[in-house]
Amino acid sequence: MIPRLKPILGLQELQAALQNGRSGDVIRFESEFAALMNQRFAVAFPYGRTGLIYLLKALDLYDKEIICPAYTCVVVPHAIVYSGNKPIFIDCEPGGFNMDLNKVEQAISSKTGAIVATSLFGYPVDLDKLNDIRARHPNIHIIHDCAHSFAVKWKECNVHLEGVAAVFGLNISKLLTSIFGGMVTTDSQTLYSRLKQLCELELKPASWKKRIRRLLYLATVYPTFYEPIYSFINQMERLGLLNRFVKYYDEKQIDMPPDYLERMCNLEARVGVENINRYNFIISDRRATAKYYFDELKKLGTTSETISVPNIKADFIRSEKTQLPPEVKGATYSHFVLLVSDRNRWLREGLAGGIQFGSLIEYNIPEMTVYGGHSPEEFPVSAYYSRSTVNLPMWGGKKIAKKVVDLIYRIQAS
Ligand SMILES: *Cc1c(COP(=O)(O)O)cnc(C)c1O
Repeated sequence: MIPRLKPILGLQELQAALQNGRSGDVIRFESEFAALMNQRFAVAFPYGRTGLIYLLKALDLYDKEIICPAYTCVVVPHAIVYSGNKPIFIDCEPGGFNMDLNKVEQAISSKTGAIVATSLFGYPVDLDKLNDIRARHPNIHIIHDCAHSFAVKWKECNVHLEGVAAVFGLNISKLLTSIFGGMVTTDSQTLYSRLKQLCELELKPASWKKRIRRLLYLATVYPTFYEPIYSFINQMERLGLLNRFVKYYDEKQIDMPPDYLERMCNLEARVGVENINRYNFIISDRRATAKYYFDELKKLGTTSETISVPNIKADFIRSEKTQLPPEVKGATYSHFVLLVSDRNRWLREGLAGGIQFGSLIEYNIPEMTVYGGHSPEEFPVSAYYSRSTVNLPMWGGKKIAKKVVDLIYRIQAS
């Protein structure tokens, strides 16, 4: 079984995790992360979502409307709610996965406090349009959610440098990992000081229980990704036996993990510092794998300039043919996402052929009851993507990618 993701972790990370803790580990990770991102400051958090909560607090946003994508990780609106604010959802741009910036203007009100601009799946958000919005509304903060988009560029600009701050996620499914964890980066001394002050006041030191849980989690990550064990786990997952452990959201409630206010542990920071050494390889490997997929899959006759969204009213679940994602200069392809007409068949035939496809992101947030239970027609592009995406494995280079491509040809032919 080829898993849909595999964190790039080696012996160095394991050794780092097992070393004795030093009190400066988190500070060291913060400064190395800031240097990597070319920002003056970085502040570490137990999760990316905790970083977003505290960023909104540090910007003194409370009881405000925060504009964010309808199609993003559900932890983003959860964090907005936990910060005491209200998420306002925007559908995706047809032709891409990011929020439709043409629709942002009409969603702005006197209560708007910030825009969370996400560069989803490693695709850069359109900074030209975003900067126009910023120029017309200078009091609205622009926050870049770069959880999927380390190092993405719009034209020549690094996306994460263009807002008041950027949020990164560092769990094992992200481009860089510190087991769990998140970072907020900024160039503003004032914002940095305020963030640090809030963390001091409100976040608890990591307990020894959390340290042990993290170590055990890391220890299971290594064997988990070996083939026989992974197949076994995948089987259990399919039977629903692991729901308690793998489901990171619950349709029916807005919640946070129990330890979301416990600081990042030293051992996580040490793993992060080691993982930074692999950063250049990770990014170039993603780009190379994406290029291989584009080259090989274009022969399927799918188009890749932009995605076309089928007539929503008629039948939003189906696109007649498999579509490739857009090929964009400056993208880092955290995910390589096909749009298919019958996702369940793909997932099934993938497993039968020894490849686990993902289905991220498989929900349209405004449709969730806790976010208003809107009809799919209100957010048609997001609704369509949520039902049609298939993610291809993005690790293992050409060797794995070739197996994936061969299977896709077989699925397409059947
Ligand atoms: C992963 C992710 C985050 C942060 O997630 P945490 O699990 O809280 O670290 C934020 N936004 C997006 C789009 C993500 O995928």
